[in-house]
Amino acid sequence: MDFSFTLPETNLLFGRKTLLELGTRAKQHGKRALLVTGKASMRRLGFLQKAQESLENAGLKVTSMEGVGPNPTVATVQRGIDIGLKSGCDLVVAIGGGSTIDAAKVMAVGIGHEDSSIWPYIRCEKETTDRTLPIIAIPSTSGTGSHVTWYTVITNQDSGEKTAYSSRHIFPTASIVDLDIVSTMPPKVTAETGFDALAHVMEAYVSNRANPVTDVLCLRAMELIAQNLVRVFVSPDPDSRRAMALADTYAGICITSSRTIMVHGMGNTVSGVYPNIAHGQALACLTPPIMRYNIENSGEKTVSKYCDIARALGEDVARIDRKNATKSVEAVLRIQKAIGIRMGLKDCGVTEDSIKKLTDYSLELGMGAISCNPVQPKREDIVRIYEQSL
Ligand code: NDP
Ligand code: MN
Repeated sequence: MDFSFTLPETNLLFGRKTLLELGTRAKQHGKRALLVTGKASMRRLGFLQKAQESLENAGLKVTSMEGVGPNPTVATVQRGIDIGLKSGCDLVVAIGGGSTIDAAKVMAVGIGHEDSSIWPYIRCEKETTDRTLPIIAIPSTSGTGSHVTWYTVITNQDSGEKTAYSSRHIFPTASIVDLDIVSTMPPKVTAETGFDALAHVMEAYVSNRANPVTDVLCLRAMELIAQNLVRVFVSPDPDSRRAMALADTYAGICITSSRTIMVHGMGNTVSGVYPNIAHGQALACLTPPIMRYNIENSGEKTVSKYCDIARALGEDVARIDRKNATKSVEAVLRIQKAIGIRMGLKDCGVTEDSIKKLTDYSLELGMGAISCNPVQPKREDIVRIYEQSL
């Protein structure tokens, strides 16, 4: 077998004013919706009210669950499950960033299984089945791809363990990318989430699960991001917003099939132990050292892939060799500088004495992603990379 590729079971709507379609789509899947959102932005900008209106106009009953924060926790998800069970919801609609969509996915699991003890599902000790409620995802950021992935990333607030889990039952049934919504992101969120999308496609492209279907999407997404991320940060316009939303969607499809590598395995751990560090920001600090590690230690095939990345990001690569492969790192550093993202974990508040805990957690919780890295790191490699990322 050359490769296997699973087609997501998600119906995707993409464009301006697509939020208006929500009610029509939702009524095909349920009668009582739990409408999940973040802390403030969607209500402040009026999109939450528009979503509710669209659902009610289509005849659905709506119960709201507001206040999902970045790096969402088990406690937040449990609150949503309790609300959903009390009101008899049979459908979950998420409008917000990746954190909101991820939290809503696990609420759909908990409500469907009538079980608010959800950590065992995340650790795969309990089985996620087709009792999971249908999910409709409406992203307000362009970075996690969560509207087209079967992943969710949740933090246990008591221990600081942050981990991803996947199930085909949490694929959104429908996803609505409304460009008017993602166009409201402020510059910092644009930069951090845009870097997340870039990380997804660079990782999926060199992953040992990469395949010819995602390779094409990864390279195209890298080109779109190279041409549009700085622009969308400095002076956003409809074309650059559309390009980033498209790249984000490609990236989600790519990581679902080809997964991520040690950048995500180690980065999720950082935001679990330090919940104030945004996901994209954590990845930004880890990406250059891990790219260098992979280029130095991997075989010809991966070196050649890093040369492709350099090219897609606008570098001139005449010959395929290790030296030219490092141009991909230079390109990433150039983009990071232009979007004002922090380059070191120390600047984000990480202290040296937490490296042991970060390493332990990565080896325990991040192995799904780490095992897809083109080079298998030893414990001391992980420690060294954390040190280099400070
Ligand atoms: P978040 O959802 O965490 O949102 C970050 C901040 O941006 C929040 O303060 C939010 O405020 C604000 N915000 C979001 N959208 C807008 C908007 N349109 N206008 C103004 N402010 C806005 O960010 P991400 O999308 O980066 O999600 C990160 C999470 O996703 C992490 O936990 C990460 O691990 C996970 N992830 C999931 C993946 C998956 O496949 N499931 C893949 C990769 C990452 P407010 O709360 O007020 O809306
Ligand atoms: Mn990510």
